[in-house]
Amino acid sequence: MTANRLQRYALFLSAYNYTVQYVRSANNVADYLSRSHAGARLPTGAARGHARRASMLRTGKLTQDGCILRGHKVVIPLNLQGRILRELHSSHFGVVKTKAEARRRFWWPGIDADIESAVGACGACTALRPAPTRAPLAPWPYPARPWERVHLDMLSVAGGTHLVVVDAHSKWVEWAPLADGAGTEPVLRRLSEMLGRFGLPRTIVTDNATPFTSARFRRYCEVNDIKHVTIPPYHPASNGQAEITVKLIKRALKR
Ligand SMILES: [Zn+2]
Repeated sequence: MTANRLQRYALFLSAYNYTVQYVRSANNVADYLSRSHAGARLPTGAARGHARRASMLRTGKLTQDGCILRGHKVVIPLNLQGRILRELHSSHFGVVKTKAEARRRFWWPGIDADIESAVGACGACTALRPAPTRAPLAPWPYPARPWERVHLDMLSVAGGTHLVVVDAHSKWVEWAPLADGAGTEPVLRRLSEMLGRFGLPRTIVTDNATPFTSARFRRYCEVNDIKHVTIPPYHPASNGQAEITVKLIKRALKR
């Protein structure tokens, strides 16, 4: 901070030719500028020049060695911004560190946004960014009784679609071909037959296949006081019991 301020003083003073002269405070009468209040008109040409230079340094219109300065930062023209960005990010630091590095030396309109997009677009950084941690699978609680929770899935094999129902307690598999189509009605007909034999489960677990997400299926569960749990889309592992069984059946059918 102090170093920055000294640097600004040095830059500010470098715009002048001056000699340093010591004046005792007893002999030092305060000049106009150090006592000037806002809105006051500057009286003389010399004082006006002084104020103009100060404001130019602030707004970045003063040049030094052919460089435009804004405060103590070099203003980078458009055609060199890409090169500066590449150099700033050559060590592959993140956005915060790259910005801090830039803030010390460079400026152009929108530099912060440009750094953000440059770092975000860096292939090397994207490839090495750690993947978000996977949430561990919460295992289904083991049901106390048979047919308390059943997992439903559809299985398509050569010859048609089948409804597979797996009991989470006993791993008992019920299987029924859906000869009359794979819509909600045929699924519910087969399911009703099974529930007629084994009783009503407390919970039914399905994926988000169309027959299970229809209003008709929801109503069926409501009427029979069955809790219907759907597993998240694209996460078949959540319906583990049915998925494993379906896989086993598929493998068995191939042999
Ligand atoms: Zn990078």
